[in-house]
Amino acid sequence: MTCPLRIGHGYDLHRLEAPPPEGAGRSLILAGIPFQHPVGPVGHSDGDVVLHAVTDAILGALGSPDIGQLFPDDDPRWEGGDSKIFLEEAVRRMTDAGYRIVNLDVTVICERPKLGPAKGRMIEQIASTLGCGLDRVNLKGKTHERVDAVGEGRAIETHAVILLERIA
Ligand code: MG
Repeated sequence: MTCPLRIGHGYDLHRLEAPPPEGAGRSLILAGIPFQHPVGPVGHSDGDVVLHAVTDAILGALGSPDIGQLFPDDDPRWEGGDSKIFLEEAVRRMTDAGYRIVNLDVTVICERPKLGPAKGRMIEQIASTLGCGLDRVNLKGKTHERVDAVGEGRAIETHAVILLERIA
């Protein structure tokens, strides 16, 4: 890869359910930050929709296999696993390919919880895993205006766009 710049987009959605025995929801973790919330993501790993989208944005920019190909959801190694591991692998691939982050823009869409109070901590957590400055990471919370699955609180989704630049 010799392009000076590469852009990537990542998207993820997880269904939200009550914890067992009523449902199959895990504790809600967004960008590595735990949230107190009555419902949580259904997923093979910890279901961190933010880290999954960011991971896929980096992998997409690199033209690498995606998160589902690298970490299959039928592999017992990733059962309940910390999604930080997935992001760390994407960062390793980015560094090996000779790229670094110019900037990352993340949009998290849900009705609840309100992300505002945790936004700073979420950005810090992402930047620390990416090994970049806080000024290179932006995160926005939006609602889905109470319509469709996300708006009715039955799902949560995230979009992430990342720009990489060649180091040398
Ligand atoms: Mg996911």
